[in-house]
Amino acid sequence: MTATGQSRRRALVLFSGGQDSTTCLAWALTHFAHVETLGFDYGQRHSAELSCRATLRDRFQTLHPDWSTRLGEDHLLDMTVLKQLGASAMTDDVAIATQADGLPNTFVPGRNLLFFTLAAALAYRRGLDVLVGGMSQTDYSGYPDCRDNTLKALQVALSLGIDRPLTLETPLMWLDKADTWELAQQLGGAALVELVRTDTHTCYLNQRDTLHAWGYGCGQCPACLLRAQGYQQWLTRRSVNRTPG
Ligand code: ZN
Repeated sequence: MTATGQSRRRALVLFSGGQDSTTCLAWALTHFAHVETLGFDYGQRHSAELSCRATLRDRFQTLHPDWSTRLGEDHLLDMTVLKQLGASAMTDDVAIATQADGLPNTFVPGRNLLFFTLAAALAYRRGLDVLVGGMSQTDYSGYPDCRDNTLKALQVALSLGIDRPLTLETPLMWLDKADTWELAQQLGGAALVELVRTDTHTCYLNQRDTLHAWGYGCGQCPACLLRAQGYQQWLTRRSVNRTPG
């Protein structure tokens, strides 16, 4: 393919090692000429995510010849400052519950705002012009910094703030979890779906002992339940679509 327009652009994917960001990485590798990845270590309870990243990047090189030439450097930033801010079930050993304001206590206030701000700073240094994140307003658990308008406002603020035209791309914004499995199928076929199923990590409680149909996890926490439900819905939709007549 001749590199023109969109395909010449250079992207930075917020890559945690979870299902969503892994699907976003496949999406970015399909659309952009050069793709780097960025992870954040913020003392998250689900640190298994971070150890999945290297495995996933290695496996991506084998999935598609274009992807191996487009996949660039990986970056990991220390964000333990988020733990200093404290009081989230995402970082502390407290039970996952709903707060008085209706948000789940896994919410880390400002997390995505910080992540994109640091990603913009890195993109400036690395000559990258697209930031890709796996936020979704459909399954967003009520996190206000996953909303489309939050991220559109941030795109404007960051582009002005670094005086470069940055684009924030969120390919999962209007997809549910079943759609995200389907997107993986469309981008990379059965091999990518299998990679997502067995090598990405979602469980808040960091469990990787049991391989379920939908992947590894405790099967009980909100992240596992959402992933399991999405996988089942995707299989159901696929079998309905395959039914003749
Ligand atoms: Zn879990």
